[in-house]
Amino acid sequence: MLDAAIVVSRVQLLKYPFSVEAREASSRLARDIPALLEILSDDMNEFVVNEAEARVIAALERSSIRLPDTGDEKDVLVYPTARLIVEKICGQLPGKAAIRLREYQAEAESKAVNRHLGEESNEFLMNLCEQSFNWNIQFMGGPTQRVNLPEYLQRFDFRILFTNYLDVAPSFRSSEWKLINRYVESGLVYVTRSELTRLASGKFKQLIIDSSFDVPELPERLAEAVQRIESELHESIRQTSPVEFSAEYSTALPPCIAQLHDEKRSGKSLAHSANFALAAFLLKIGMNEDQVLAVFSHSSDYGVKGGKIAKYQIEHIATKDYEAPSCTWMQRNLLCPVYQGEVFDPLCEYVMHPLSFYETRKWEIEHNIMNHSWYAAKRKKRQRLRVR
Ligand code: SF4
Repeated sequence: MLDAAIVVSRVQLLKYPFSVEAREASSRLARDIPALLEILSDDMNEFVVNEAEARVIAALERSSIRLPDTGDEKDVLVYPTARLIVEKICGQLPGKAAIRLREYQAEAESKAVNRHLGEESNEFLMNLCEQSFNWNIQFMGGPTQRVNLPEYLQRFDFRILFTNYLDVAPSFRSSEWKLINRYVESGLVYVTRSELTRLASGKFKQLIIDSSFDVPELPERLAEAVQRIESELHESIRQTSPVEFSAEYSTALPPCIAQLHDEKRSGKSLAHSANFALAAFLLKIGMNEDQVLAVFSHSSDYGVKGGKIAKYQIEHIATKDYEAPSCTWMQRNLLCPVYQGEVFDPLCEYVMHPLSFYETRKWEIEHNIMNHSWYAAKRKKRQRLRVR
């Protein structure tokens, strides 16, 4: 048994804004939205707005969220302020874009929590989940205490009530999360420590996605922050709406991925970086692990250990939900055939990410648009591609 007490340090309050303690700490300072807006209108608290703005931008740029570190007790208001900013912008966007914006924030916040939880003790993790989400979890004991269990259960660190498990697990793509593929006993599902971490961060993501609220008129400083974020990112929010898997996906693949895809299917063995880029991209456009594995199964090195290595790698990328690499990353790793001068596609000059290429080209195909001259009219040229 683990001690039921949970001691949350100041840094942990900032790391886990969904915790009871963090919510209490922010309520003590600002019990509701009008009280928060009043605090934010004070010049002395400009740092809270600045930190919240940086937090939203980091989320939208898919970079890491940084913890506020001013030493002021009002640091705990940075997260609610960041939520306020996003909800204000959501209120001004059409439905789909608003949902997408909230999803971006939820994704980034949940990833940060996942990272932080990896550094906590089992006791802290379990108590945080129980108290924040009202989950019912049992600790399986250390490795020596588990030796009496059947061997197939010894790798699990916790058991969680199946209804709590089902609260989050169905939102994960990988088949290993399906209840039918889990060990369940007396209504409890066996999970490893990293799986419980994933469930907790997934729950936090869900809470953000499910919470929308009206934001009244903002004080000037906050309104300016909203304006800055809107003008810088409005376009990217619209352009990066979720990509969906289509049976005709191969015709919309960017040259980099099309080349890796073709090489894989023709049996060529690829470098690790190329395998990662291909698998992460295909998972992001909605292919499931079995479909990605089918692409990898043509490779000459697939037969090593009966495909177990490829299966493990694909599962790992799916479970960790790795981002597909950007154009810059592909170019740095010599995986961009356009940058290498081997092939050319005009769309490549106007995108910064292979997923943006895919989404745009898919849209063109769906609307039967063959003339690409609209790229230049719609967007600024953003990257120099051919090696000169
Ligand atoms: S520019 Fe980007 S999308 Fe186009 S081939 Fe290179 S990496 Fe792929």
